[in-house]
Amino acid sequence: IQFLESVPKAELHAHLNGSIPLPTLQELASEYLASSSGEGAISNETIKQGIDVLSKGPKLDEIHDFFGLFPAIYALTSTPAALARATRAVLSAFLDRQPPQCNHLELRTTPKHTDAMDREGYLRTVLAELDRYEPDQVGLIVSLDRKMGEEVIKEIVDIACALRKEGKRVIGLDLCGDPMAGDMTKLEPYFAQVKNAGLGLTLHIAETVHNTPEETLQLLSYSPNRLGHATFLNDEAISIVLEKKMCIEICLTSNLLCKTVSTLEVHHIGQYLKADHPIAICSDDILPFKTSLVAEYALLLAKPPYGLGLTEEQVRRIGEMSLDARFR
Ligand code: 5GP
Repeated sequence: IQFLESVPKAELHAHLNGSIPLPTLQELASEYLASSSGEGAISNETIKQGIDVLSKGPKLDEIHDFFGLFPAIYALTSTPAALARATRAVLSAFLDRQPPQCNHLELRTTPKHTDAMDREGYLRTVLAELDRYEPDQVGLIVSLDRKMGEEVIKEIVDIACALRKEGKRVIGLDLCGDPMAGDMTKLEPYFAQVKNAGLGLTLHIAETVHNTPEETLQLLSYSPNRLGHATFLNDEAISIVLEKKMCIEICLTSNLLCKTVSTLEVHHIGQYLKADHPIAICSDDILPFKTSLVAEYALLLAKPPYGLGLTEEQVRRIGEMSLDARFR
């Protein structure tokens, strides 16, 4: 473990609401339940069940089961105070331990409009917590959810660009959420706008076997800098990715637990290692997946079938690649 902790590395793919340490979420839940009449959009019973499932470790039969875990979490992070606490705990889990999990963290989150804050307020609350750290330690990627309509996408892109102009630590834009939702054909102007504003672009892509090659090629046509998961790329897509050196954000445990990849032996990381193509090992959502960035790196080093059996030198090289793929 000492070796794994000492490898210089960046966490580039961590979703805020999926990365809240369980004790913090449990505290937020007991405070929420003690003060709530239960008449909110999410019932107290649903929240209790959600926390119970997350505490035990959810059993996921397929990737869509995973998205059902979030409404209960969102009810608990819907005020500025609760969101700030959750963000502080996430940052602390990655950065405060000695040694820290990573040398650099890019945290991502989808701005929400709740009764207590608008989307800009949401992002400012998160950014205020990032400001407690050195600028080279952490940056924020603003996520769009595939379900969002164009009006909301425009609003979020405008806010992200304005915050960047103001000098806030907004470094990139992400596209995430239910992999089968939404229309991916109308995103060009928004992605061009964020690139012009100096932000990096990372897209969740081809996460399930049901994502069509047409959709994948459409998303690649927006020239993202990095790709999340990229599990089901066909040969044409792979050749574009290799040629344009788009870094792949690899989340091993996430893929195995969501059953989009059956074993580490057949994981698509293999083809990128062979090609010495840029990859970054990432944790995705430590809360439901009960993992950590160091645990993900441990999977690289462990002997098959428990891990990929890579050498320390290869693991160091992967750490370097993650640092090279940072957004500035
Ligand atoms: P948030 O953006 O609310 O801070 O983090 C949770 C959200 O991130 C989820 O509701 C979901 O939209 C997105 N997310 C988390 N993990 C994944 C993943 O593995 N794939 C996709 N497509 N979206 C994810």
